[in-house]
Amino acid sequence: MKCTNCGKSIEAENNWVEFECPKCGKETIVRCDKCKKLENSYKCSKCNFVGP
Ligand SMILES: [Zn+2]
Ligand SMILES: [Zn+2]
Repeated sequence: MKCTNCGKSIEAENNWVEFECPKCGKETIVRCDKCKKLENSYKCSKCNFVGP
């Protein structure tokens, strides 16, 4: 699995989150600890929803 934001593999990471797109629920968003801390926005590839 890869971080949705930066594309980094999260298998080596301890802190990361996985959640479904709040809009369509069809896409799984993965964020690594770095992107979480930087508050990078993510984009759903299914419905183009952009969230904080
Ligand atoms: Zn990341
Ligand atoms: Zn979506």
